[in-house]
Formats: sequence, C-alpha cells, structure tokens
Amino acid sequence: MAKHRIHTYDSTLRDGEQSEGIVLSLEDKLRIVERLDGFGIDYIEGGYPASNPKDIAFFREVQRLPLKHARIAAFGSTCKKGVAAKNDAGLADLLTSGAPVVTIVGKTWDQQVIHALQATLNENLRMIADSVSYLKSQGVRVVFDAEHFFDGFKANADYALECLKAAYLSGADSIDLCETNGGALPFEVEEMVRQAASVVPRAALGIHCHNDSGCAVANTLAAVRAGATTVQGTVNGFGERVGNADILTVIADLELKMGYVCVGPDRLRQLTGVAQFVAETCNRAVPSHHPYTGASAFAHKGGLHASAIARFPQAYEHADPSTVGNMTRMLVSELAGKASLVAKAKTLGIDLSVDDAPVQKILDEIKRREQEGYSYEVADGSLAILIRSLLGGFTPHFKLESFRVIVDDREDTGAWAKDAMSEATIKIHVGKRRFVATGEGAGPVGALDNALRLAITEFYPDVKGIELVDFKVRILDENVGTGAITRVVITSRDKQGSWGTVGVSENIIEASWNALVDALDYGLMRMGK
Ligand SMILES: [Zn+2]
Repeated sequence: MAKHRIHTYDSTLRDGEQSEGIVLSLEDKLRIVERLDGFGIDYIEGGYPASNPKDIAFFREVQRLPLKHARIAAFGSTCKKGVAAKNDAGLADLLTSGAPVVTIVGKTWDQQVIHALQATLNENLRMIADSVSYLKSQGVRVVFDAEHFFDGFKANADYALECLKAAYLSGADSIDLCETNGGALPFEVEEMVRQAASVVPRAALGIHCHNDSGCAVANTLAAVRAGATTVQGTVNGFGERVGNADILTVIADLELKMGYVCVGPDRLRQLTGVAQFVAETCNRAVPSHHPYTGASAFAHKGGLHASAIARFPQAYEHADPSTVGNMTRMLVSELAGKASLVAKAKTLGIDLSVDDAPVQKILDEIKRREQEGYSYEVADGSLAILIRSLLGGFTPHFKLESFRVIVDDREDTGAWAKDAMSEATIKIHVGKRRFVATGEGAGPVGALDNALRLAITEFYPDVKGIELVDFKVRILDENVGTGAITRVVITSRDKQGSWGTVGVSENIIEASWNALVDALDYGLMRMGK
C-alpha cells in the first residue's frame, strides 16, 4: 500500500525569526531556503513582503534561486474591515511579491472579531471570503491561516467552523488551523481537528502549533491523526515565547513512527545536518538534548548500557540514529570494558575487535590518563588520536620544537583586560621543513592558534576550514593553588560537524596547546589529510 503523503510548510523565516535574539540577514534567509529546498520541504514562508526593505529584497532575490522543489509563500492578512479585497493595499503587496503561494491569516474567534477587530461577525466572514476569492482570481495558491482556531472553537464552535467554510468555499487551497496561544493539549486538538474535518476536506486541512504547554509536536501529530495533511513548523522549534512545533521532529515522527511520507527516507538522513545548519545560521546551537538531532540524542553513558547497545541497539534507542543522520555516541569515561571501547571506536571510524591485543592496552592508557585529569567524554577528537597512536596508525601532522608566549599589558589604564595583548612565537617541523611563526591575539591561546595556523597553512591549506568555537577551562584540584591541574577542552568545527579535544597540564598554556594541537590534528585527519 502506498504511504500517505503529508505536506510540510516551514515558517522559520517568519515565525522562527520572531524568536528572541534571532536576526537573519537577507543572505542568511536565502541560504536557509536553499537548504530547506534540498531537504524536500514543500512550502517555505518568507515573511511579510511589505514589512521592511529586507523582506521586500528577499522576495525579489528568492525568485532567482534555482529551487528544485519548494514553493515560496508570502505572509499577510485578510483585507481590512470595510475594504474590498481588490482595493486592499496589503493584499496588493502580497501579490506584488511574486510569491506563488500567498498565506493570509484571519480571525475565527468571535470575541476577537468583536473586541480586537471591532467588526461584526458577518463582516469578518466577508473579509475572509472576499480575500480568498480575490487572491485565487489572481492565480496564486492560497493558504488560509485560521488564527486562534482552537480558542475560537472552545468559545463558539459554530462560528469558528463558519470561518473555515467561508475560506474553503471561496477557493482556499489549504486551511491551516492555528493553535496561536500554544495552550491546547493533544486530545483537545485531535477532537477539534476532527470537527474541522467535517466541514473541510482532509486534503485541504493543515495545522500550525506553538509550544507554550510543551505539546507543539504532540499537537501536530494529533492533528494529523484527526485528518490534517499539511504540517507547519519551524526548524528546531525556533519561534516567539517558547517556540513553534519543531518541523524536523514532526517529520521524523511522521516518517519513522506513523508511516507517512514527508521528505522520504533518503532525505530524512539530512535531518541532523539541517538542524545544525539552520541553528548556526541563527547563531544558536542545537540543544544537546534535542530529540533526534541533538548531540546527546543517542548518547549512552553507563558501562552496562554501552555494551548492551553494541549487541542490541533497540534496547536503549527508540530509532536508528542513521535514519536521521545522527549517530550513537558512547560516553567513554564510563567505559567499563572492552566491548564498550570497541563500540565507541566504531563510532570514530576505527574497527577493533574485543579479541585484539591492543584493546587492553588502550583501556589501560585511558584509565591512566583519566587519573591524570583527562576526560574523553566530550573529547572524541583526542580519543581518536589516542587510539590511533596506540595502534601505530597515526603520524602527527607537525612536530613542535618550542613555543613562547608573551602577555603584554602595556599601559594600565584600569580598564581590565582591554589593553592586554598576547604574542606567540612557535618553531615547528612539518615534514623535513622547519617553520618559525609569530601570531598575535587578545589572549595567549588565540595568539598560539594564530601562530600555529600561520606555520602550517602552506602545507595544510585546509586548516582554514577549521574553526575554534568554544574553549573551556576547569581547575581540577583547587587546594593546591597554582600547582593545580588544569583541564582545557576545545570545541572545533568544520563544514561537516564539530568535535572536542582535551589537554591537561599544571600550566594552563600548555594544556591549551595540547588541546589545540589535537584539534587541528584531528580536523586534518577527518579530512583525510
Ligand atoms: Zn505562529
């Protein structure tokens, strides 16, 4: 039996950008459109085409993108009270945008019509019908966003359904029920969508949920069960207040658990990549505990857990991580035995078997280092280098002869840390050649990083694609004062993803250097250099 198709409608560029702290440039928006198009999203809402020059430019520029699949939607509202649709300035802007899809929001809650709009209930029905039929006469696909449908239905079910009917009978292609305040619960949504499906055919029914009671994804799935065939949402659930339904989680649930097709199994593997791409474009991180796409979504800690996972993944994983482009991670500091090390090594692309002689040697070395203060839990890069070194399969990309760091706080103006500058000089061997390089930075680690990159870029131009994104310092034994052990963890990333590396020393600069060297060594190793 052919699987039923559910259509996807992304609102990241409109509702998502309402998120506190998210600002997207025109370029950002266009890159997100390309990525979502490649992922197989059906409709991408671009914003209000008349609200500001950036959105006007977006609708002009997006028409030049060679999109393969997605159709762009312009967002606005029904015509104004007392104004014929054909004379309404807002509707004219929507049509001028050139978008093939126009989404208009309209009221369905009687009290909103009377108090907020100060219109009669009949005038609101006229505004919906007139706007939809006028837009249809202009040749665009029309989506009617039924604002406050669920609150409206609770207050006056007959009127809320009248509004849907008005939109449908005037020719709206999709009628998307909006859970605007985000307060409804799944069993309520399911029942109300079922009622809506009695006046609008399922093929024309969609759902748009907010997450204020923590149920946006659950409400969206409940709506699909009750008959909705278009799901709206935003990538990572970005949106105002606590956000929207995460369209990626919805897609994974629909495909993997409910037997529907949204993007299909091949493109579903891009899920984690899309989450990271959009998050980084928004200057955010995907929360590590995020369903399906978070770094911890398939991470396992307990030793017993880890060895059971290796034998029978279904015991602790609700889905196969590879179906969504994520992977199982073993948190190695809790490694209890050979089986879990072997499983961990596999996730790093290293094939070991429990019977291999070096496995015990590697475990002993990890234990010894953990006593010294190393922790490999978030340092996959350093762990991969350690295992490969002990297997004899790793040659460092460069060898240090010496480094020196000067921290120079010239004129003490009392503005702490503002005027201090660091300078690092390193002497290094790459192959048979010796390089001496000096780098500057606001801090000593930045200066070292700059010097090291200067020294090796000629040999390894790819280091330009490796970026240090986070730097964490822990003092492990506070009692010993300056003699305490310092652990430095660096997070780096390239286009494919991120990795952690660790360095430990009594000297913070040396600990940082060790983590930095691992970061670049592992980055180059990943690239196959
Ligand atoms: Zn919304």
